Amino acid sequence: MAEEKFVGTPRKVRTHVNQNEGLVFEKSSPGKKAYRMAELDVPAVDAKKLLGPSVRTDLGVMPELSEIEIIRHFTRLSTWNYAIDLGMYPLGSCTMKYNGRVNEAVARLEGIAEAHPYQPTSLSQGCLQIMKTLEESLIEICGMDAITLQPAAGAHGEFTGILMVRAYHESKGNARKKIIVPDSAHGTNPATAAVVGYQVANLKSNALGMVDLEELERMVDEDTAALMLTNPSTIGVFESDIHKIADILHAKGALLYMDGANMNALVGKTRPGDFGVDVMHLNLHKTFSTPHGGGGPGSGPVACKKILEPFLPKPVVVTNTDGSLGLSFDRPQSVGRVRMFYGNFGMFVRALAYIMANGPDGLRQTTEDAVLNANYIRAKLSDTFELPFKSPSLHEVVFSDKLQAKNGVKTGDMGKRLIDYGFHAYTVSFPMVVSGAMMIEPTESESREELDLLIDALKQIAREAAENPEVVKTAPHTTRVGRMDETAAARKPVLRWKGPAEDVVLDSAAKEW
Ligand SMILES: *Cc1c(COP(=O)(O)O)cnc(C)c1O
Repeated sequence: MAEEKFVGTPRKVRTHVNQNEGLVFEKSSPGKKAYRMAELDVPAVDAKKLLGPSVRTDLGVMPELSEIEIIRHFTRLSTWNYAIDLGMYPLGSCTMKYNGRVNEAVARLEGIAEAHPYQPTSLSQGCLQIMKTLEESLIEICGMDAITLQPAAGAHGEFTGILMVRAYHESKGNARKKIIVPDSAHGTNPATAAVVGYQVANLKSNALGMVDLEELERMVDEDTAALMLTNPSTIGVFESDIHKIADILHAKGALLYMDGANMNALVGKTRPGDFGVDVMHLNLHKTFSTPHGGGGPGSGPVACKKILEPFLPKPVVVTNTDGSLGLSFDRPQSVGRVRMFYGNFGMFVRALAYIMANGPDGLRQTTEDAVLNANYIRAKLSDTFELPFKSPSLHEVVFSDKLQAKNGVKTGDMGKRLIDYGFHAYTVSFPMVVSGAMMIEPTESESREELDLLIDALKQIAREAAENPEVVKTAPHTTRVGRMDETAAARKPVLRWKGPAEDVVLDSAAKEW
């Protein structure tokens, strides 16, 4: 081992890293330890002999550090991240609302946090009751008949829902061939349809950014399995003709799938089940305030009408004749299991805590505040940025960079500049129906004061784009890491530390780009 090399030598590819902020391997020096063990007073054991030849005894190169160095390293890294607990996260489509601490307190109760999925149902009655109560609450919120909590994300819920659509059509003798997806849909919708084996038929939006009914009527036929509709759409617009859309589909035996990840705009105000939706998913990690971002576990329940209930994933939570709760595996038409055990149970607890803490009136207020906040931003910034769709906004608003692009300043530049003003970037270049999209979703969590700070920052950035475009085009300036080469980051990602011997390879790869 060439130990000296590990000691505080910042490597060329990471020139922004100074001695004090070094990487954990580079701070390593041989022999340092964060612990002290007593001398062995029993005979040493050969691990390979005891546990078999596959036991690894060579642990590779590991950093050697003292406890305070380790603590400082990780504490310092934690301060480099932006987080919802530090400030606003106006990332449109992602619903980055505040995650109430009451959710965490409940999820940490001993009987809940330490429950094991292999416990027999007789010892899991409390957990099953949490699932049942959450199921009933979500069914009520959506106006549907049945639900599964198994899927682990929104896209996973879409996959599950479309598998159910296919199983439904197959049960009638014909799986059908295509799924229609409007161009204002979330990108996961066409991906889902394709993964389940359907052809994707693209439906162009009309000038208001909504489904073009005549075009839809022309496209729907006996080969259409479903329309996948993001509602409100990715431009934050509610499909006001949703009833007619449902009628057109149902007349040809096709189903209406609603991507309900944007339910934050509808909860307590209107119910998809009442306006003709047959099957939909929810994102507990958006609408129902379970933590997300940073790769935390998600949860994407799928709610459906009676006609689709037999196809739900199994097992399902049922009430036994003696009143206790159980799991039913006897579901001959089920699409099967889509996730081990119950799904991401910890998220169910948090979502239910959120629903119960708010109550029906609180949930309705949440929706109203989310929509009000987005419209406040829209009203305050519509002189500053181009507004491509004039239709009324719900929980998010989409501007474009058209006015600033004249000076060579693009949505991505302004998003990065926003970081210098202490905010997370808004959503850049999405949805794709808007060229140069700047998508902002404040959520109900933000106060008027915080919204005003964001509005001031964006106005200031627009002024900079007019007077000093260079400062925007080279942002961010205040972060520890400056502007990245995004192509290199995507094509040649460096995802792990490589030993000193690999430095040469790393450096030359970086140079190529
Ligand atoms: C976030 C989102 C999804 C995908 O959800 P994941 O949990 O990220 O898989 C799908 N559709 C819409 C409209 C979304 O906003």
